[in-house]
Amino acid sequence: MPRPLPPISPSPLQRLRLPWVERAGIALWLKRDDLLHPHISGNKWRKLAPNIAHAVRQGHCHLLTFGGAYSNHLTAVAAAGRLLSFRTTGIVRGERVEPLNPSLSFAEGQGMRLHFLSRSEFRLRKKAEAWPEWQRRLGPCYILPEGGSNDLAVQGCADIAREVEAVGIEPDYWVVAAGTGATAAGIVRGKRHGQVWAVSALKGDFLERAIEHFAGCPCGTHWRLVRGYHHGGFARWTPALVAFINDFRRATGVRLDPIYTGKMMWAVYRLALSSFFRVGSEVVAVHTGGLQGIAGFNERFGVLIR
Ligand SMILES: *Cc1c(COP(=O)(O)O)cnc(C)c1O
Repeated sequence: MPRPLPPISPSPLQRLRLPWVERAGIALWLKRDDLLHPHISGNKWRKLAPNIAHAVRQGHCHLLTFGGAYSNHLTAVAAAGRLLSFRTTGIVRGERVEPLNPSLSFAEGQGMRLHFLSRSEFRLRKKAEAWPEWQRRLGPCYILPEGGSNDLAVQGCADIAREVEAVGIEPDYWVVAAGTGATAAGIVRGKRHGQVWAVSALKGDFLERAIEHFAGCPCGTHWRLVRGYHHGGFARWTPALVAFINDFRRATGVRLDPIYTGKMMWAVYRLALSSFFRVGSEVVAVHTGGLQGIAGFNERFGVLIR
């Protein structure tokens, strides 16, 4: 019988003492959601927990979702399905390429059935209007949108902020990577203090509307969007980004991924260098996980991230 994810204790909150942090005159904390689970990592645990609980209550035993070929969300759903006795189906953007990349071969190894769609088909058939058709074809299933982002997911991410404030920290700034914006919106909903700075992992401008929708308040109030640190767009990168990720690991022991958390921490670094954070302020950066993506990145580009 499928069951929900187990309750978890708060993820660690780590103080980062680095020369550039000291120079900026701020206190920098890293919320280590990457340590929540090795495969259901970071914000994906936060988003899945309330959705899977809901699916169990509704008597579902099959999860269906959508993602790109390196998606952290797909691998997390696959691992959760294996752990909790759900059937899982992943609809993947693009053609099947053999051998499968590390993310997809992990997902398949966890028992996920993969269906590959061309980019244009994928765009159409991931939409909520197309969901009844999936249910007709594949039978009853609980459908999670791409990235796992829906209202329940936003509620789950609110816990990130609650856990931080529960230990007595009153952040002036929260910094978090944004793809669909649901995680940033969840922090907005869960926090009492400070402003959330959502660092866009991609080019394009749908994020502002998405966060506004999920958070229920407009940009510039409890949150703002930080653009200009995407390094060319989603999943694009620069040698400087890779060097920063490797330096950060040497200095702190903490790994960052090149798609989300590397760009987020790079933004914190650049903003601190340019004195964007008020002196004396408390900054909480959120490590949303995603480290499974490093293997696929290194396979494509050479072992750049250590
Ligand atoms: C999926 C993911 C994100 C993006 O989260 P959204 O809620 O879609 O904005 C950020 N960081 C990591 C590591 C992720 O895997």
